[in-house]
Amino acid sequence: MGQLSGPTDPTADAHWEHNHPRKGFFTDTSICIGCKACEVACKEWNHNPQDGNLELLGSSYDNTGSLGASTWRHVAFIEQGQERIAEARESGRALVSLGMPRIGPPTPAATDLADADTTPPDTADFRWLMSSDVCKHCTHAGCLDVCPTGALFRTEFGTVVVQDDVCNGCGTCVAGCPFGVIERRSNGTVKVATSREDQHAGHPAVPNVGIAQKCTLCYDRLVADETPACAKACPTTSIKFGDHDDMVETARERIADLHAKGMTEARLYGANENDGVGGTGSVFLLLDEPEVYGLPPDPRVPTADLPQMYRRAGMAVAGMAAAAALAFLGGRE
Ligand code: SF4
Ligand code: SF4
Ligand code: SF4
Repeated sequence: MGQLSGPTDPTADAHWEHNHPRKGFFTDTSICIGCKACEVACKEWNHNPQDGNLELLGSSYDNTGSLGASTWRHVAFIEQGQERIAEARESGRALVSLGMPRIGPPTPAATDLADADTTPPDTADFRWLMSSDVCKHCTHAGCLDVCPTGALFRTEFGTVVVQDDVCNGCGTCVAGCPFGVIERRSNGTVKVATSREDQHAGHPAVPNVGIAQKCTLCYDRLVADETPACAKACPTTSIKFGDHDDMVETARERIADLHAKGMTEARLYGANENDGVGGTGSVFLLLDEPEVYGLPPDPRVPTADLPQMYRRAGMAVAGMAAAAALAFLGGRE
C-alpha cells in the first residue's frame, strides 16, 4: 500500500514504471458562461443516459442538479445578490491576508503585477456563479482506497478509473468519496429496454445499471493522446487540461492576476497538497467559499486516519489483555 496521506506522486505510489507526467484539469469558473457544452460533450462521448426529465429545478436555471452516475460533468448555476458578493470578496480578502492560497514564492505574474491598481471593482447588484464540477481525481482517493474488488484503479496518468466489468455494485466507494462524486447507476427516469418491443419503441438499454460510475478523465482518449471531450468542447477555455504541475502553476498565475485587479473573492480549490486528500488532480478557481458551490471546505480521505485508528485499537487490545491478566491473577490469590 502506498502513502495514506500528505503530498505524494500517486502514480509512483501505484508502482507505475513510466515517465508520464500526472494529468489534470484547471477549471477557471471566472470565465465559465454556463453553456453546458462540457456536460453534453461528456454524455455524448461516454454514451451516458439522460438524467431526469430536463425540467428546471425550481431553485435555479439548472436542470441536472449535481454530479451523478450519469452526469460526470455538472455545471452549477448559482444566483447571488450584492450582499453575498460583498461577503465573498471580504472572506477572500481574509484568505489573502493569511497568505493563502499562494504557497511558495510569488509567481512571475504576481511580481509583474505588484504595482497594479488593486482597487476592487464596483460590486455588482447581481451575478451568476457558473461552475463546471467533475471528479477530483484525488492524490489520495477514498473511492479507490476502500474498494474491496479492485474495480477502481490508478492509471499511468495519475487519474482514477472504474472498471465496469470488475465492480460488483457494493457501493463502498460511494461512502469513501469525501466529495460525493461517485454513484451507482440506477435506471432513473430512463426506461430500461427489457424486450425487443422496447428496443423497437426507441427505449435504449441503460448501460451499467447498479455499477459505480464517474468521470474517467477520458482515459480512452488519454491513451490515444487526445484531450478529454469536456475540455475540447469548452468554448471559453474555462476547462483547461494538461500536466498537473502546469495546471497548478496556471491557476496560481490566474489568481495573482485577479487579486491584482481587486477581485479578492477569487481562491483556489484542490491546489494544496497538504490538505486532507493530498491535493486533487482537478484544480478549481472559485469566486466564493467552496460550500456555496456544494464543495466540502476541508475534504479528508477516510484512510488518512487508519494509522491512528490501528494505534488506538492496539492500545485498547493491550488494555483489555492487561485487565484480563490482572483479573486472572487476582482470582488466584
Ligand atoms: S473525487 Fe471522489 S470519486 Fe473522484 S477520485 Fe476523489 S474520492 Fe474518488
Ligand atoms: S474528462 Fe471525459 S469523462 Fe471526465 S467529465 Fe470530461 S468528458 Fe466526461
Ligand atoms: S463548456 Fe466551458 S463555458 Fe460552457 S459550461 Fe462548460 S465550463 Fe462553462
